[in-house]
Amino acid sequence: MAVRSFVGEARRRVGPKRQRIRPIIERLAVEHADAKIALRFASPLELLVSVMLSAQTTDVSVNRVTEKLFQKYRRPEDYLAVPQEELERDIFQTGFFRQKAKALRGTMRMIIDEFGGEVPERFEDLLRLPGVARKTANVVSAERGAAAGIVVDTHVRRLSQRLGLTRQEDPVKIERDLVKLVPREDWARFPHLLIWHGRRICDARRPLCEECPLALDLCPATRVRA
Ligand code: SF4
Repeated sequence: MAVRSFVGEARRRVGPKRQRIRPIIERLAVEHADAKIALRFASPLELLVSVMLSAQTTDVSVNRVTEKLFQKYRRPEDYLAVPQEELERDIFQTGFFRQKAKALRGTMRMIIDEFGGEVPERFEDLLRLPGVARKTANVVSAERGAAAGIVVDTHVRRLSQRLGLTRQEDPVKIERDLVKLVPREDWARFPHLLIWHGRRICDARRPLCEECPLALDLCPATRVRA
């Protein structure tokens, strides 16, 4: 009960989330002016492949693998021209290589058969690609300048909860809360801001609240006392 009332008091102190969302975005944009996707790609196809490979691994590991991969696999057909085992070897270091190779080949087959060899632009079409879940489709759409929703990864989930922007646990429900709150023009950059803030300052176990620009008036979870 005491914890509940403490949380309630903290929420009252910072005010409603609708009033806080813009200043939160503005301050994070100043703090992390360089926040952007960490994956390296030079085309929609490379973007899609990178994001598919990034499941359950780090962006650094994906970039290390794709540096060579994209020299060998330039078109959707290239992923189907080799035996699946060869593709598995080429992406081995990203983990879950069997499922990822299968998903990549299924996706390339559909891109060739149904989308004229091009990565589809419509969010609904991206979601139809084998192995492409909502998060992947959201990242690809956002990076192509047509965000259809808000990417929710582990950092976005943790920070949204800490900042009192959602009480949900499920990523789809968190996204539902965020799209109602975050101005549409910020849907693409908002996750990057939270991801970089999570990596640099708002660590899961040891948030550096003393260094956080949101600490005094915008974050109900702050450890800084006024
Ligand atoms: S004040 Fe602390 S808990 Fe809140 S966002 Fe900043 S670092 Fe995270």
